[in-house]
Amino acid sequence: MGKHALLSASSSHRWLACPPSARLCESYEDKGSEYAQQGTDAHSLCEYKLQKALGIKADDPTENLTYYDSEMEVCAESYADYVMEQLAAAMKNCSDPIVLIEQRLDYSRFVPEGFGTGDAVIIADGQLTICDYKHGKGVLVEAEKNPQMMCYALGALELFDALYDIDTVRMVIFQPRRENVSEYIITRTELLQWAEDILVPTAKLAFDGEGEFCAGEHCRFCKAKAACRKRAEYNLELAKYDFETPAMLDDVEIEAVLSKVDELVSWAADVKEFALHAAISGKAWTDWKLVEGRSNRKYVSDEAVATAVTEAGYNPYEEKLLGVTAMTALLGKKNFVEVIESRGLIEKPQGKPVLVPMSDKRPALNTAKQDFNEE
Ligand code: SF4
Repeated sequence: MGKHALLSASSSHRWLACPPSARLCESYEDKGSEYAQQGTDAHSLCEYKLQKALGIKADDPTENLTYYDSEMEVCAESYADYVMEQLAAAMKNCSDPIVLIEQRLDYSRFVPEGFGTGDAVIIADGQLTICDYKHGKGVLVEAEKNPQMMCYALGALELFDALYDIDTVRMVIFQPRRENVSEYIITRTELLQWAEDILVPTAKLAFDGEGEFCAGEHCRFCKAKAACRKRAEYNLELAKYDFETPAMLDDVEIEAVLSKVDELVSWAADVKEFALHAAISGKAWTDWKLVEGRSNRKYVSDEAVATAVTEAGYNPYEEKLLGVTAMTALLGKKNFVEVIESRGLIEKPQGKPVLVPMSDKRPALNTAKQDFNEE
């Protein structure tokens, strides 16, 4: 994995909101994670699939990918298909669009030492398109005013603005495991204005370790998230909530709890994990100790169990229908449509109701009670 800049684009959402977090995070070791490695593997595969689709000779990285699976295969294929569709669309108005894969984008004119990598960059007819592949499925990533994409866009402008007449930048987040393709178009002028008004002064504060600590949902991506005092104060505000005296909470009070509870839960989990890891590493807490947790029985060797059960005259395996992703990988996308989808054999069941803030983009569900009232 490449070295991360202090003010990396991928962490810009955090350091723009809380500038001193950048230097604070520097003192923590970069442990990497399974998710990060999965993302790196998926990016290598995406790069290869796109090169192949463009007819560029490239080595197939599959056998060196630790986390390769049928889902990653389908995701990378669909990413390459998507970029090729964008290119085909660009060619309708422009005979010689430029496509760049894994392009290093340097935005250090705006942010000290700032650089990143654009997964796919297309330049055609006054528009620069930057496409970013996200393999994660935990957080839905939106392109709108996404500072990581805006930093990349600035880096791309640095490279191509003088050569091509670029008026607009289109940023695309391609997040197949969330079925999310999010787009945002910004004019070159708006982008440069944002850089001048917000990015440059905040990046300077962050680089110098200055500015105000500010807690919020961005804290979950901060290495200091467990022991940070500002975040603790912010979350403990809920505990100080001055509830009125009646026995039951009223609607306003319930909504006040709802608005903070997710962050409160994730902060509490971070503190617990931090304390556990410290104890495992040898720290003795005054009132807390390490004990052995519960565990379930498991086979010493799957192979030996399968042999023993077969010898005893039983079938140790169950046969299961492949899931949608694995089946798509087996048949290929085209065949999947022909053999399964076109016969009406795919449905998307309604998801379980979840309560989200009004700002969420999904349309509100009609409950049975509302339907009844309307009738
Ligand atoms: S945990 Fe939050 S408030 Fe604390 S330094 Fe990190 S981003 Fe800032």
